[in-house]
Amino acid sequence: MVVAGRALPAAAAAAAAARPHYKVDYWAQLDPGAGLAHVRWRLKGNQGYLGRISLRVDPDRYLNPEGDGTVTTEPGWIHWSPPDGEAVLRYDVRLNHRRAVGKGFDSYMTPEWALFKGEDLIPPTHTYERVAGVGAEAEAEARFDLELPPGWSLVATRPGIGEGVVEIEEEHRRLDRPNGWMVAGKLGVTREKIAGVSFVLANPAGQPFRRMDMLAWLEATVPELQLVFGDLPARFVVVGAGDPMWRGGLSAPDSLYLHADRPLVERDGTSPVVHELVHAFMHARAGEGGDWIVEGLAEWYSLEIQRRAGLLSQTRFKKALAKLEKRGSEVDDLSVARSSGATTARAVGVLDRLDWQIRQETSDQRSLDDVVRRLEQQREPVTMASFRAASEAVAGRDLKVFFRGHVDQPSSPGEAKAVKSK
Ligand SMILES: [Zn+2]
Repeated sequence: MVVAGRALPAAAAAAAAARPHYKVDYWAQLDPGAGLAHVRWRLKGNQGYLGRISLRVDPDRYLNPEGDGTVTTEPGWIHWSPPDGEAVLRYDVRLNHRRAVGKGFDSYMTPEWALFKGEDLIPPTHTYERVAGVGAEAEAEARFDLELPPGWSLVATRPGIGEGVVEIEEEHRRLDRPNGWMVAGKLGVTREKIAGVSFVLANPAGQPFRRMDMLAWLEATVPELQLVFGDLPARFVVVGAGDPMWRGGLSAPDSLYLHADRPLVERDGTSPVVHELVHAFMHARAGEGGDWIVEGLAEWYSLEIQRRAGLLSQTRFKKALAKLEKRGSEVDDLSVARSSGATTARAVGVLDRLDWQIRQETSDQRSLDDVVRRLEQQREPVTMASFRAASEAVAGRDLKVFFRGHVDQPSSPGEAKAVKSK
């Protein structure tokens, strides 16, 4: 069975047909007995468009790479130089993977089920043309076929995966690949359309994931998120499971994972599910020194969206902000490589003030929502410079004083009480 991908407009389709074409067929098979996924790539019609493909991999997980042409490895990479025409690459993936040493799994397979991301099977790549310039205009057609153990079903961001060959189309990518969270096995599944998005909530049967609680939370918050982010994906997958999976939340394209023990609202008022939804809808990756912005936005909106949805009173919202500001008051430097805990807490306070500042400058016509929409449209890694530029464009003025006072230097603890009123 071939499941059609998104249809292109006629003009775009004609332009695409005129370009040189090559094909990549991905095939993967889940093998719970061995704890592996067997993966094969088959390239067709490659005329030097792909001279070398470098797969970014964890060498402990990606085993036995071999293929036509030359296959070499170095720590963190598999390099494949395929011959022209038709060529095959094979490797195995150890599906079990811990989020960090001593922590739970962010990819896992048992004899009954598997929970992983598409990029665990088909990792990110760098591609190089064999002849400079020859591949620039070339169009790839990617297809994916995932073979499951007998009796298993699958939920993924694209319908049809696990049932036959599926066309994979992604914007902004040279070599399209299947991505997002996937859960396979005997599954509990709940489907609901919310704000135009077809949500699929799924967990391995017998795993303690409260889909109906989650659904209620999505019903309340997704319409508010849509007002901020505009176009949402047509389909969105929420997967959950208990131990030994990692006890946190993780977003991936058009999908998120949440451990079954995580509450909808934490004691500090933030919401892990809203936090991950913001990551997924915003598509923002952090550039150098920008992680506090990406994490801070997810955390601030996890409070703000609940407030707008009437799930968090104004009083509790302010209390939550004040607590986070206190927690972050010791943090001097926001521009750390990975923002978490106290750094993100401080970032929330900075972003809340920035929202207030923009509203002041624009007589309440603009807000942090407009900054976020700009960042989303740019689709570039968020850095301090791009964030400040977007904020200044929205505010309509130089924000040097604001950024110098609140970002370059720690907030003074006395300011923590000056939370805006709405
Ligand atoms: Zn986050």
